[in-house]
Order: sequence, then structure tokens, then C-alpha cells
Amino acid sequence: MKKIKVSLFYPAGDVSKPITYHLVKDFDLVINILHADISLNKMGKLVLDIEGEEENIEKGLKFIDEIGIKYKMFTKSIIWQEDDCVHCGACTAVCPSNALKMDKTEWNLTFEQEKCLVCELCVKSCPLNVMCVSL
Ligand code: SF4
Ligand code: SF4
Repeated sequence: MKKIKVSLFYPAGDVSKPITYHLVKDFDLVINILHADISLNKMGKLVLDIEGEEENIEKGLKFIDEIGIKYKMFTKSIIWQEDDCVHCGACTAVCPSNALKMDKTEWNLTFEQEKCLVCELCVKSCPLNVMCVSL
């Protein structure tokens, strides 16, 4: 089994294509929608985790390509250097996916890597350069 993170870019007018349905039904893939920015008649963006057999992932990506949807694989990831974090919470204010949250009982930062969109906003917002990008 393999898991990838990918952004899909829909041309205006194509946002109603049932891509996730086909990825699940036709290619036996597990899809987790991390972020969706889609409106009728506008360009749309979808960020997905796709999990399944490597061969099925390849077929699913080929299908996406063949129906004219551009996609981009995530090659970078965000590293939280936890030992240097002072848990000020500044990064949580800019995180669009709630990957970064303050634990309300301990008032500690928590980071859920699976939800991260690698937008890098937290990297710019951290006063101590605790968040960084790994290539
Ligand atoms: S902004 Fe930096 S120091 Fe503050 S909680 Fe986030 S990672 Fe930690
Ligand atoms: S890069 Fe940082 S701000 Fe962006 S989604 Fe990931 S954790 Fe949140």
C-alpha cells in the first residue's frame, strides 16, 4: 500500500466532474479530501490524500490526466521542530487546514501531519523558525 498527497486543478466549467467517485469505485482507492476550493464556473482546487495499491494509484492518476484535470504531487513536507517550540500558538492562526492546533487542556501545540497542505504559511508566521520545509 502507498499513500500520496496531490493537488487537483479544475478548469472553470469542469468542477462538477465526479473524480473522487471514480477513484474510489474504479481504482479501489481510499480518498481523503483535505481541502476543497470549488465554485461553479470558476477554477477549482482540491487537495487529496490517495491511498491504495501503487498500481491502482498510477491508474487513478492516469485517469485524472486523461479527463483533462491537471494535478501536482506534493514533494515537500513540513517539519515541526518540537523541542524548540514555545507553544505561542501564532502558527495556528494562519493554518488553513487545522493541522496545527492548540491543545486546550495543556495549551500545547499539536501538529497533525496528515492534514497539512504544505502551504508554508506557518513557516513564515513562526517567530522562532520552528516550522521548516523538508524537500
Ligand atoms: S509559531 Fe512557532 S513557536 Fe509558536 S507555536 Fe507555532 S511552531 Fe511553536
Ligand atoms: S504548511 Fe503549516 S500552515 Fe500550511 S497547512 Fe501545513 S501546518 Fe498548516
